[in-house]
Amino acid sequence: MPKINENFLKLEKNYLFINIAKKINAYIAENPDKKDNIIRMGIGDVTLPIAPCVVEAVKKGAEEMGVKETFKGYEDSGAGYDFLKEAVAGYYKSFGADVKPSEIRISDGAKSDCGNIVDIFSDDNVVLITDPAYPVYVDSNLMNGRKVIYADCSAENGFCPEPDYSVDADLIYLCSPNNPTGAAFNKEQLKTWIDYAIAKKAIIIYDAAYEAFITEDNIPRSIFEIDGARNCAIEICSLSKTAGFTGMRCGYTVIPDELEVVASDGTVVNISQIWGRRQGSKFNGVSYPVQCGAAAVFTEEGQKQIKENIKYYQENARIIGETLDKLGIWYTGGVNSPYIWLKCPDGMGSWEFFDYLLKEANVVGTPGEGFGKNGAGFFRLTSFGDREKTKIAMQRIEKLLSK
Ligand SMILES: *Cc1c(COP(=O)(O)O)cnc(C)c1O
Repeated sequence: MPKINENFLKLEKNYLFINIAKKINAYIAENPDKKDNIIRMGIGDVTLPIAPCVVEAVKKGAEEMGVKETFKGYEDSGAGYDFLKEAVAGYYKSFGADVKPSEIRISDGAKSDCGNIVDIFSDDNVVLITDPAYPVYVDSNLMNGRKVIYADCSAENGFCPEPDYSVDADLIYLCSPNNPTGAAFNKEQLKTWIDYAIAKKAIIIYDAAYEAFITEDNIPRSIFEIDGARNCAIEICSLSKTAGFTGMRCGYTVIPDELEVVASDGTVVNISQIWGRRQGSKFNGVSYPVQCGAAAVFTEEGQKQIKENIKYYQENARIIGETLDKLGIWYTGGVNSPYIWLKCPDGMGSWEFFDYLLKEANVVGTPGEGFGKNGAGFFRLTSFGDREKTKIAMQRIEKLLSK
């Protein structure tokens, strides 16, 4: 009989979205007439369709697959076609980050890379993760029995914690702009983490999934805009939120050639090479039509079209923020992020506020507690919804909370 990896038994049950669904269903069962009145602002998924030029590129890619002369089977490296890696490198260059196409690996999204990258690191590493955080970072390390320690985020530090030199870590997860808090590190703040990582000989795993939502000048889109990052950072990004690819699946991970660690016998190990070896064994690449669609995102026309969608979400975020400002409610995010992370009014707990909003305003958000202990008393609203519904939801919240 096989022995199970018992670390899985120690994981928190994934109660958050199940509990939310249960509460909504129970409310609808008691108030069937309210069913269609409920506005959902809890989801972390995009709702606008893929840009037209991306659709065309995917179609063209699919048609090539149906013709003998242009048919493609397995990709040689599984790391992505050159045309896409070159497009991604060109995009990095546009905001001043120098990344070579050969340092980029195309993936089926950021979640799998964030979770799988730890395969190349020993189980006795200490992993530092912000609290609250995207659950993938914690779970994928606990699955291997790694020790996880936390960097506390709070209203006092604007949910952008500073490194604590009295703490030793080997791997550090940073996500900026952040899910769930919407907070984003500025260049100086991110530099303090790079300095810390270099001092501790640690590696930063930087999740840039929301870089396309950045509007402010001093917020870096990539960790590779900052000096020193090439010696201590891996960046993971995705087209999921950037271009509505949550159902298409495409992302990319950047590992600089310089990134190295020293093995126990003194051998210098190149991280990019080891990750390539891991991916080569367990991953066969992203489908050709999807890579064609992804490359279209980085064309001039593609950038124009995806920015239309991002602007739509940003305007929703502005509407949410405007209401919270009127109500005097403290929040982060919304400016460089599709997420608004607010302090529950009147000292309410996350779930208490969830219930209150559901019953009194028929609006659904996400209780902050679901992302870590420091999320208690906070609440996440997303701007990924419909404009009209967002407006109605915020009118209801304004009416309810200004009573
Ligand atoms: C949505 C999201 C991603 C993207 O995941 P995909 O697997 O690429 O869809 C990555 N990181 C964070 C923090 C996210 O919220």
